[in-house]
Amino acid sequence: MVSSGTHTMRTLDDQYGRTARDLRVSLTDRCNLRCTYCMPAEGLEWMPTDEALSDDEVIRLIRIGVERLGLRQVRFTGGEPLLRKSLERIVRATTALRTDQGAAPSTAITTNGLGLAKRASSLVEAGLERVNVSLDTLDRHTYAALTRRDRLQDVFAGIEAALTAGLTPVKLNSVLMPGVNDDEVDDLVNFALDMGVQLRFIEQMPLGPAERWDRSAMVTADDILQRLNDGFDLTPMEEPRGAAPAALWQVSDGKRTGEIGIIASVTHPFCAACDRTRLTTDGAIRSCLFSAQHEEVSLRDLMRSGASDAALAEAWRKAMWEKKPGHGIATLGFSQPERLMSEIGG
Ligand code: SAM
Ligand code: SF4
Repeated sequence: MVSSGTHTMRTLDDQYGRTARDLRVSLTDRCNLRCTYCMPAEGLEWMPTDEALSDDEVIRLIRIGVERLGLRQVRFTGGEPLLRKSLERIVRATTALRTDQGAAPSTAITTNGLGLAKRASSLVEAGLERVNVSLDTLDRHTYAALTRRDRLQDVFAGIEAALTAGLTPVKLNSVLMPGVNDDEVDDLVNFALDMGVQLRFIEQMPLGPAERWDRSAMVTADDILQRLNDGFDLTPMEEPRGAAPAALWQVSDGKRTGEIGIIASVTHPFCAACDRTRLTTDGAIRSCLFSAQHEEVSLRDLMRSGASDAALAEAWRKAMWEKKPGHGIATLGFSQPERLMSEIGG
C-alpha cells in the first residue's frame, strides 16, 4: 500500500499474482459497421441511453482507477468509440490525471477508423497518444462484404490523418478468416511497411455471433507465421513481452523493414501476464473479456445509489481479486460469454 498524494493507493491485484494497470473502457455499444465476426447484419438491440454511463460517470470511474487503484493506461473502445461525441472531453479529463508514477495516464483508442480523418487533430489536442485502427482487407469488395458497409476509403483517410496529426504509434489490427481475407497476408504487410506502421494479426475469438466461430476452421498464429515466412525475412523481437499480448517480429522484404505482431489469444493465450481490467458501456467491471455476465460487478448501480469514491474503489478491487487464471477457451467446459465484444469493449 502506498500513499498517492491525497489518497491511499491500493492496486487491482488478483489471487494469481497479477496487478491490473491497463483499463479498457467501452464508450458505446453502437457501431457504424457490422463486421461479420462481431455483429449480426441487423445490428444489436442498442443499450438505452440511461443505462449507459454518462460522461461524468465515466470520468469519475477513470479518476478513481488512476488515483486510487494504480491504473496507468486507458484505452477507449466499444462498439465504435468515435461515435461518442464527447470522446475529446473524456480524453482531456483522463490526461489531466496523474498516475502513481506522477505521469499522465497513457491514452489510446481502438477504432474502425470511420470519422477519424475529421477527429484526429482534436483528439491529439485533447491529449490522445495512440491509436489502433482495425483493417482486415485492402480490397473494397471484400471490405464491403466483411463489414457490410462500403467504407474502405474512409479508413484509409483515417489512417493518413492519424499519422499527420502525430498519433504515435499508429497500429493496424487485422483478423483473418479462411476464404475471406486470409489470402491478403502479404498485401496487408506490404501496406503496413509502406505506411511505416505496425500491423498486428489477431486470432478470431468466440465473441461474435456464435455461428461465426469455428475453432477447427480458424486461421491460427502458426498459420500466419508460416505464410509470413514464405514472403518475408522474420526476426523475433526481444523478449520479455511483459503484459503485451502481441509476439513481435521484425519483418523485412530486403528493402523495407517494419514490425509485425501476432496476437494468439486462442492458441497461445497470454492470460498469465494479463494486466487488464474492463469497464463496460453500462458501468460494469469485467476482469476478463471472457467473464460470464454474473461475474460482472456494476459500479454504475453502486454509484447511482450514492457510493463514495472509496467504496467504488473497494468494489472494483473485489471484482478484480476474483479474476480467473485463464479464459479457458480450449477447455471442455468453455461457453461463450453472453455479451458480445461490442458491448464489453474489445
Ligand atoms: N469498433 C472498433 C474497432 O473495430 O476497432 C473498436 C471495437 S472492436 C470490438 C475492437 C477489436 O476487436 C477490433 O480490432 C476487431 O477487429 C476485434 N474483434 C471484434 N470481434 C472479434 C472476434 N470475434 N475475434 C477477434 N477480434 C475481434
Ligand atoms: Fe464495429 Fe468494431 Fe465490431 Fe466491426 S469490430 S462491428 S467496427 S465494433
